This record gives sequence, C-alpha cells and structure tokens, in this order.
Amino acid sequence: FAALTLDAVERRYGRGETTVEVLNGASLALLPGQSVALIAPSGAGKSTLLHLAGLLERPSAGEILVGGKPTSTMSDDERTGLRRGQIGFVYQFHQLLPEFSALENLVLPQMIAGLARAEAAARARELLAYLGLAKRERHRPAELSGGEQQRVAIARAVANGPKILLADEPTGNLDPKTAGHVFDTLASLVQATGLAALIATHNMELAARMDRRVTIRDGRVAEVT
Ligand code: ADP
Ligand code: ADP
Repeated sequence: FAALTLDAVERRYGRGETTVEVLNGASLALLPGQSVALIAPSGAGKSTLLHLAGLLERPSAGEILVGGKPTSTMSDDERTGLRRGQIGFVYQFHQLLPEFSALENLVLPQMIAGLARAEAAARARELLAYLGLAKRERHRPAELSGGEQQRVAIARAVANGPKILLADEPTGNLDPKTAGHVFDTLASLVQATGLAALIATHNMELAARMDRRVTIRDGRVAEVT
C-alpha cells in the first residue's frame, strides 16, 4: 500500500465565471520510506495540494487515500482523527509553542493523543537525542538557533509516530549550511522510521537528494526528471 494516494484529485475555488481550477486530475502515490520533493512555482497549487494531502480540505472531485483507506466518505471527525494519528506537518516557521521548552513541545501532542506524561517524556527525550538536541530539552524556542528550532519542529511532527510527513518549505528560512543539516535530519528520520515524506521546497540542491521530484503542471502532478 502507498502511505498516501491522491487519485485524480480536482480542486476548484469559487463558482461560475470566477472559478479557479487549481488542481485538475492530480495523482500521486507516496510509498513508505520514500521522500518526494514538491517543486512548484508560486501559484501552481502547492499549498492546496498539501492541505488536501493533510486532510484539511476536501477535493472537489477525486479521492485521497491514507494507508489505502478512502477518505472522501469519512466524517470531519474521522478525518481529524486520521490526520492526528497518521500525518505530521512541518512548516517554514517552526510554530512551536513559545512559552514551553523543547521537551514540552514534544510531550504535549503525545499527551493530547492519550499517552501518559512519563511515556511521552521518554519518547521526547529519545527523539531529541536522536536529532542531536539532548542538551536543548529545557530551552524555549527563542533560546534555540533557527536550525535547532526546525529540528525540534521535525521531532514534534513525528512524536506521535505518523506514517506520513508533509512539509512546506521546512528549510526555507535557513541559511544553506543549516538547511543542509536540517535536511539530513529529515532524511535520516525518513530512513529510520519508514515515513513517507512530501516536502515542498525551492532548494534544488536538497530536492536532488530526495528519492523523487514532482511538480504541478496544468493542475496535475508531473514527475521532474
Ligand atoms: P501555491 O501554494 O503553489 O502558491 P496555492 O495552492 O496557494 O498555490 O494557490 C493556487 C491558486 O489557487 C492561486 O491562484 C490562488 O490564488 C488560488 N486560491 C488558493 N486558495 C484559494 C481560495 N481559498 N479561494 C480562491 N482562490 C484560491
Ligand atoms: P490544529 O490541528 O493545531 O488545531 P490546524 O490543523 O487547523 O490546527 O492547523 C492550522 C494550519 O496549519 C492550517 O490552516 C494549515 O495551514 C496548517 N496545517 C496543519 N496541519 C496540516 C496538515 N496535516 N497538512 C497541511 N496543512 C496543515
């Protein structure tokens, strides 16, 4: 099974004469352990595709399958449950809770998912250590460098053990060297956990190191060769 499948997805905004057709038959299968770069010019529909893949929006037509399960017939609550359990998200700006430590930022989502604090903290410490942040667990986001903030954000995204990782310009805010380092963190996590990752980026050097590269052309997903 693909971890995530978009099958002939269409997405239109507006009605009648002002309709904008953003996606028009977009198909994509993300395999476990595979990292896919999404390289698209501004306005091509990258955010739309990520929102649909993250089950935040519903397509106008077509189907989105998570772990082989069609999501179009699910209720909003079922979709939210699936998103929380299966999908992690990393943004361009870390979106960590500023008043909480790095550790707490990883503990909270796990507790919301039902884990006891001790278990959540153990998992958080393990992840932070894996990402080279063991000495930073008590630091608040503002006390971390940009690269460290993004690595904590990546750790948070995978804390609940999702199968799918969606990232929107996760290194877009970083200098090239730090971006490379954060990217290596992502890549090793994908390898270690068998995550399927879809990573929107403008960084061609990093895209070249991913398993596949796709773009959005005329509302469809096209492989970049
Ligand atoms: P990207 O992320 O690639 O820049 P988006 O997915 O944000 O592109 O948007 C693609 C197109 O869809 C743009 O032309 C944008 O103006 C339009 N669009 C996006 N969201 C909406 C919306 N809620 N209502 C109307 N048009 C929208
Ligand atoms: P929360 O789950 O924290 O209550 P949302 O899921 O509504 O909040 O996230 C807020 C914003 O973050 C959304 O409007 C969207 O832009 C983005 N976002 C969050 N999760 C995802 C996801 N899985 N896929 C795509 N975008 C996401």
